[in-house]
Amino acid sequence: METLTYSRIKSRKNCPMAEHIRYELGLAPKQKKGSFALGSAVHRGLETNSIEEAMAIFSDTFPSTQEEQDKLEINKAIVQAMLGGYFQRFGVWPDDTRKESKFSIPIINPETGARSRSFELQGKIDAITAIDGQNWIVEYKTASQINDDYFNRIELDEQVSTYMYAAQKFFEIPIVGIIYRVLKKPSIRQKKTESLEQFCQRLAQDYLNRPEFYFFEGKFYRSQEDLVQYEKELWAFTKQYLYERNHGIHCKNASRCTDFGRCEYMPICLQEADWEFIYEKREIHEELKA
Ligand code: SF4
Repeated sequence: METLTYSRIKSRKNCPMAEHIRYELGLAPKQKKGSFALGSAVHRGLETNSIEEAMAIFSDTFPSTQEEQDKLEINKAIVQAMLGGYFQRFGVWPDDTRKESKFSIPIINPETGARSRSFELQGKIDAITAIDGQNWIVEYKTASQINDDYFNRIELDEQVSTYMYAAQKFFEIPIVGIIYRVLKKPSIRQKKTESLEQFCQRLAQDYLNRPEFYFFEGKFYRSQEDLVQYEKELWAFTKQYLYERNHGIHCKNASRCTDFGRCEYMPICLQEADWEFIYEKREIHEELKA
């Protein structure tokens, strides 16, 4: 049985070739992006209510140049500042909050009720908490830009349907919606006249002084009818995906190649010289193992 996740399905819908490279061939760039470690550290800190736990994410990073060392120190300072400001702004969830909840459910044919023999749906929810007797999923995000369209996009995002649908089935509890807590990355930079230490202090203070600039919360809902529709769409996705894979079809969606800079798989698609040395085989669903 193969695992589908929200991220994998999104990847396939964005660009089938990118999904094929990452999730079927198992290839990923050797060098992790700095922002990846930063996001992971913030998540760890939020899930454990501990800045110390967040810092542990950086413990296996060994910079080889002074520039890399400075960057690492700045990333650590950003994580500390973000979490310090977040805990001041929101505090922590009640003790009975369910943290880091993994789910695994069958994918159902909505017409017959039969289970898919090829795929199951898995994922990891940041938290589930009860407010006034109603269950809410909690998701954390870090982002550079937050505006109205950021939340409009979440309103349309399949993550809301996926997690509500899966959590209701797996935990057998009604879910009223998802609370997104979004932490904005810093917009201030180190000044030429400022030492690294002075900059880190200014950063931490800025997160404490301007919570309305750095921290956002949005609540999102799906009706039970929406979730019935989601189940149909999920089943249809698996049918199309199987057809394409069985026929060796992995279309390249060139309109996504330059999203967020440059797609990390462009050297493969362009068959650039020595592209093999840029990538390594990696666990396919790393996020489920952590
Ligand atoms: S470079 Fe473009 S076509 Fe190739 S995987 Fe990335 S998005 Fe898809």
